[in-house]
Amino acid sequence: MIRPPFPPGSLTRRRFLAASSAALLPLPALAQSGGPAASALPSDVDVAIVGGGAAGIAAARRVAASGRSYVLLEAGPTLGGRARTRTAFGMNVDLGAGGFSRTGATLAAGAQADGLALAPLPSGRRLFVDGHEARESAYDAFTAALGKARRDMLAAVDGGKDVAASVPLTAAPPAPASSAPLPPDIWTATVLQLLGPLSCGRALPTLSALDLSQRDAPVDDLTAPGGVGALIEALGAKLDARTDTPVTLITNSGRFHSITVRGQRTPIRARAIVLAVPAPVLAAGALRFNPVLPARLTNALRALPAGALEQAAFLLPGNPLGLQPNEAVLARAGRAPAALLRGRIGGSDLHVLTFADALAREIAEKGEASALRLARDYLSLNFGLAAERVSEVVCSRWGTDPLIRGALVAASPGQGGQRRVFADAVQNRIFLAGEYVPVAGWGTLSAAWTSGEAAAGRALALLGGPA
Ligand SMILES: Cc1cc2nc3c(=O)[nH]c(=O)nc-3n(C[C@H](O)[C@H](O)[C@H](O)COP(=O)(O)OP(=O)(O)OC[C@H]3O[C@@H](n4cnc5c(N)ncnc54)[C@H](O)[C@@H]3O)c2cc1C
Repeated sequence: MIRPPFPPGSLTRRRFLAASSAALLPLPALAQSGGPAASALPSDVDVAIVGGGAAGIAAARRVAASGRSYVLLEAGPTLGGRARTRTAFGMNVDLGAGGFSRTGATLAAGAQADGLALAPLPSGRRLFVDGHEARESAYDAFTAALGKARRDMLAAVDGGKDVAASVPLTAAPPAPASSAPLPPDIWTATVLQLLGPLSCGRALPTLSALDLSQRDAPVDDLTAPGGVGALIEALGAKLDARTDTPVTLITNSGRFHSITVRGQRTPIRARAIVLAVPAPVLAAGALRFNPVLPARLTNALRALPAGALEQAAFLLPGNPLGLQPNEAVLARAGRAPAALLRGRIGGSDLHVLTFADALAREIAEKGEASALRLARDYLSLNFGLAAERVSEVVCSRWGTDPLIRGALVAASPGQGGQRRVFADAVQNRIFLAGEYVPVAGWGTLSAAWTSGEAAAGRALALLGGPA
């Protein structure tokens, strides 16, 4: 099933405004970090977790709670991975995941148990056409176009068939025998942008209809007032986590695996491993294995190339779009660069645009000069705002970060069944975790969290359960 970005019928302006005015959940402020003091790496653990994003942190928390020995190894300078909060414009700015869903994942429960603050996100998106908010009838037309796309996609993959996602979504509707062919719906192009590039970072002809139809990710309904990246980092604060600790080689040594860390002479022995690095990092061979990974897995990794999503954050004082805090905006496809806007983050002047595919690749390569030009073009062509309204942007560059190498992965046409391979244990002892692993809900923070917990559960089962 294709995930509608909001539940059917929820997208009236009235309901949207009611949802967005919901109060902050009354939770205590962010926890202090206080993990074990950094010391020499352990020589021997029950479970080693490689990769300190949401999946790795969730796995490490589960293993820590079991009483088994473990270590969490992160190559970068901080935990959080693609959930990263940085300071810009004197505030906390998320340039990765900026929200997540409470449905079906224990991420929200974990945050609440740790006393970390959460806040609701408004449901739905506000639609704009030619600089003005769309009428109620346009919301209905958009919802109908999205529903039709969803039905067409499901029909195309009926019985497990797989085709390019563009095939069912761009096929011309059959014309009634006695009339001229119908023109495409005015929202079709916007729906296609939303389902392809803006969701997966790639154009629909490069995406598998089967993989996309199985996604069915729940809607993001929560955020963190201090930043989602800061929240994820705080969830790892009490763990035995080692940052700036890149794993370079994993060797199968029979009864255990040896993990080689750059700059360390002695490898770590682990009886089980949760491997929570991004799929494109594995696909690129940036982490070596001895013996090499099974061909079935490397083929599956190649069948799911990375998509590109990059974000540009900027201040837009005066609320010229008339947005509520944290409101999401979708402008009808036209001459402006395609992007999703989240406005007035936390009620401030901060706005974040997410660009996709070729535009995102340009931002990843060229940085803030490109992001500023694209943000200005977006605001001027959609809303008639003068370029000088935005004087500065900060942007993400996930695509050129060697530890990440893209925003998320999605199957190529005909390869929609390959994601199932990631559920297999590798060399009996290595369990994969990350946003790319689940067949449903993939590409989200909640999926990453849940997959980390599941991989840890399998690692513990291999060891015979908790200590
Ligand atoms: C622009 C953008 C916007 C997004 N917005 C949302 C959103 O609003 N809602 C949502 O639900 N999701 C969103 N996502 C997706 C979400 O951020 C990811 O799905 C999730 O953070 C992935 O977590 P992960 O643990 O699987 O991987 P990551 O967070 O990428 O963690 C993997 C970790 O492995 C580390 N690593 C790599 N190589 C090594 C090595 N050799 N040794 C040790 N460590 C290594 C990396 O440094 C990284 O920290 C967004 C993503 C992007 C890029």
